[in-house]
This record gives sequence, structure tokens and C-alpha cells, in this order.
Amino acid sequence: MSDDDVLIVGAGPTGLTLAIELARRGAGVRIVDAAPVPHRESRGKGLQPRTLEVLEDLGVTERALATGRTRLRYRKYFDGVHVNDTDRFEDARPTPDAPYAGGVLIGQWQVEELLRERLADFGVGVEQGTEVIGFEQDADGVTAFLTDGEHVRAGYLVGCDGGRSRVRKAMGVRFDGTTNEAQSMVVGDVAAEGISRDVWHQWFTSDGGVMLCPIPGTNSFQFQAGPELDANGDPLPPTLESFQRIFDRHARVPGITLTDPTWLSLWRVNVRMVDRMRVGRVFLAGDAAHIHPIAGGLGMNTGIQDAYNLGWKLALATAGQAAPGLLDTYEEERLPVAAWTLGISTELYARVQEAVKEPGTGVEAAAPPPMGTGYRWSSLATPSASATTGDPDVLRPGDRAPDAPCLDASGRPVRLFQLYADPRFTLLGFGTEVAGAVGKLAAEYDGLVQAFAVDAGDLRDHEGHARRAYGVTDPALVLVRPDNHIALLTTDPAEIAAYLARIATSAPKE
Ligand SMILES: Cc1cc2nc3c(=O)[nH]c(=O)nc-3n(C[C@H](O)[C@H](O)[C@H](O)COP(=O)(O)OP(=O)(O)OC[C@H]3O[C@@H](n4cnc5c(N)ncnc54)[C@H](O)[C@@H]3O)c2cc1C
Repeated sequence: MSDDDVLIVGAGPTGLTLAIELARRGAGVRIVDAAPVPHRESRGKGLQPRTLEVLEDLGVTERALATGRTRLRYRKYFDGVHVNDTDRFEDARPTPDAPYAGGVLIGQWQVEELLRERLADFGVGVEQGTEVIGFEQDADGVTAFLTDGEHVRAGYLVGCDGGRSRVRKAMGVRFDGTTNEAQSMVVGDVAAEGISRDVWHQWFTSDGGVMLCPIPGTNSFQFQAGPELDANGDPLPPTLESFQRIFDRHARVPGITLTDPTWLSLWRVNVRMVDRMRVGRVFLAGDAAHIHPIAGGLGMNTGIQDAYNLGWKLALATAGQAAPGLLDTYEEERLPVAAWTLGISTELYARVQEAVKEPGTGVEAAAPPPMGTGYRWSSLATPSASATTGDPDVLRPGDRAPDAPCLDASGRPVRLFQLYADPRFTLLGFGTEVAGAVGKLAAEYDGLVQAFAVDAGDLRDHEGHARRAYGVTDPALVLVRPDNHIALLTTDPAEIAAYLARIATSAPKE
């Protein structure tokens, strides 16, 4: 029996992100995974712009960009004839407020490897081959039961254990929705010597199609197609031979042999989500809480963003600093996002089904909004009572906090996102009028907030990008959450102090 702050069940992208978020804030974390070794399957092969921002905060984006690939074109063929090439991000350019113009193509196992490496920087390793079979909770904590008979005691338990989540079942929450057997797909990783690795190939015929997407840094392609069916019309399990038959039928490229299958899977369209993401001291995140069509590539991205929302709140709770109600805001903010994700991925899936029949488009028709939804509805996004600053057409509480290039106190270039990588809240004070208040709040809330007086000592908004992106004119105080959303826009320092009191219980320093 050990005693950790948080036990994370499942070391997929969701669990690993949460572990980093907790470990970098000094919380005691144990992360276990039932699989004996990490998998090497390409699965969710795309990081979206918003997720790249999140991973920059965690210190992983640079390595993800070096491992993966940006700007891969889609190549469409019909009856074996090349129709066109398209690039979804052709016109996308980084802007001062959004540094990542497009997504990154990268295998899911590679993302997980980078996250494990980052987690190791904080001295935490994944305990592979360790399965949780149940748990009990009481007023002080949770006791989880492992297959080897060990009992693990922790303050909180988070089920990041995927679509078949055992934690979810033990919590007794509902997982309502549909499973559509008729819309199954075979997926896998195979080598295809002789096929160009410069594009994402999509071969269609009047009765189906097959796609091969090159996974960067490997010699394999992710294979996606409709399955072969048995006499009853039910999907047959995938084999290398069936992949070859499907490929020959739709791609019609002679002389290509598919080899080296490292992953073969039958995937069914499920559209399901929980009705609760928290019961007492037990939480759910990622696929354990919501599963949906892969169109739009939102699954892994949404799981990472669940973890990013929960991490800082749970870290405050484990430090005994979270104000009552803070942990409730996880479900309040992320359950509507789960519902939105189910809706948009189902819509995008239908759009792709239609688009592949047209000559001009294919899977790239499934383009989700790059920056997600924000949390305008949240109780953490209350408007300022002073309402004397901030253009609501530009930015409101609950919105994603934008980036902006500035200069630091020594005149060196620094982006706001680099500053936001600090695990605390960030207070930006625009103008000399609020500089004194900024200094005072920074000193009072040192452990909870880092603060910068803009154009009054700490930071220079030399080209006005920060003021433009935040929709403010001087004087203005902008409080940014640790997960880089706007907490408050105000001119009144007392409102900042009152807001922080709603988040954390610890008294400001004398
Ligand atoms: C073909 C395909 C393409 C996809 N494309 C995309 C895409 O482009 N973009 C995208 O964002 N998503 C995509 N997805 C979805 C993505 O793979 C999932 O959403 C993602 O894996 C969810 O991450 P997770 O960490 O929540 O769960 P998982 O990755 O499922 O991880 C759960 C972990 O928990 C462990 N576990 C389970 N039960 C227990 C237990 N009882 N005790 C201990 N450990 C346990 C498992 O071993 C596993 O490692 C795709 C999926 C597929 C199949």
C-alpha cells in the first residue's frame, strides 16, 4: 500500500498529459498501464494547432515538430486515375496570435513516446503491466485494486483507460450513444515498398476505397479501408492478405506488395459519452469519457485537452489549496466540449462519406475548427463588474488566451506563450496606471500568480500585438488561467484578488 496524491489509470495520450501536468506542479503521481509494453500503433496520427499550443506549455511541441511532418498533401485517385492533390493548410500561415497554422502528422505511439520522455524529466515513469480491476473511495481518498493483489491508496483516481474503461464501469456512470456496426473500418500499419511517401493517398472506386498515409520517421503507412464482409454482411477480421486484396481492388497499382504489418484492427463507429466526468474523488478523461468517429482527428486531441483542463485544478487540490467547487468546474467545462466533439465529428464523418464520391475532395473535408471552443459558459468565466476594458468582440472570459510577440525587460524577443509555460496564473497589466497594482498582486500571490507590467517595466508590447489580440486599451488587467484561457479582464485590482480567492483557499502572503 503506497500513498500518492493521484493515481492515473491508463498511459495513453490523456493519462500521460495529466501526469506531466501534475508532476510539474509537484504533485505525487503514480501512472499505471495494463499493457506490458508501450504499443507502436499509429492510431490518432494528428496533433491539431490547439494541441500544439497545449504541448508547447508542457515542453513537448518542439520535439513533436521535429518528429512529425507538417503540410502533407492529400492525393485523390478515382478508378486508379490521379484526380488531384490538395493541401488543407495551403493558405494557413502563423500569425502573431496563433503560432501554429496547421496540424502535425505524427503517429500516436510517437506522441506517447515524447510524452513519456517529458514525464521522465520529472522523475515519473509509467508502470507497465499494471492493471486496475476496481476501486473503493471514502471521504479521504481512493483505494484501487490491482490484478496482482496490491492495494494502492491515493487522494484521487483518474480513469484515462480508454473507450472500454473499467474505471467508468466501476463508477456507475452512463455511457449513452450508439454503435454503428454498418460503418466499420479496417485500419493498420503496413509497409508498401514502391508507394510514394510524399502524399496521403486516397484511392476510390464506385464501391469503396483505400487510403495509405505515410507515418513520418518510419517505413510504414496507416492503412484505412472498408472491411471485407462475410456471407451475412458482417465485417471480417483484418489480415495482411485481406489488406492486399482491398488495396489491389481499389488502388489498382500493379506490383505493390503490402508487408510488415505491425498493427491490424477492426474499428467500429461509436458515438458515446458519459453523463458525469466525476464521482467524488474519481474522474474520467479522454476516450474513457467520450468516443466518436475519427473524422476530424479529434479523439487524442480532446483527451489531451481534458487532461490539460483537469491537471492544474487537481494539483491545487492535492496541495490543499483548491477552493470549494474548483474541481466541479472540470466537468462543467469539459462535458459540453465532449458533446460538441461528438456532434462535430459525426457531422464531419457524414461530410467525408459524401466528399469521397466527388472528384475534388476526400478525407480533408473533415476539417474541425483549429482552436476548439473555449469555456465562455463556465462559472470560471464571469465578466468583470467594472466592464471598463476589453472589446467583447475580440476576447471574452473563457476564451483561449492568444499569443503575442513582445520584448522582455532586457529587450529580448519573448512570446506570451513562452511566459505562459509557467504553471501558475499569469497577470498582464497594461499601462503605467496599473503597474503598482500588478507588483502588489504579484508579491501577494507569488505561488499562484506570475505578473508582468506591460510597457511599465517587465514586458514591452512594442508592436501592439498583445493589446490587439486581447482587445484592450490602457489601463487593463488580464488574468490568464494556467491552462491558457482568459479568467478575467478588468481595470480593478480588487476583482483580481476576489477572483483568485474563488480559486484557491490559501491566504495571500502578509
Ligand atoms: C484508426 C484510428 C485513427 C484515429 N485518428 C485520430 C486522429 O487523427 N486524431 C485524434 O486525435 N485521434 C484519433 N484517433 C483516436 C485516438 O486514438 C484516441 O482518441 C486516443 O487514443 C485516446 O487516448 P486515451 O489516452 O484517452 O485512451 P487510450 O489511448 O485508449 O489509452 C488508454 C490506456 O489505458 C490502458 N488501460 C486500459 N484499461 C486499463 C486498466 N484497467 N488498468 C490500467 N490500464 C488500463 C490501456 O492499455 C491504454 O494504454 C484515432 C483512432 C483510431 C483507431
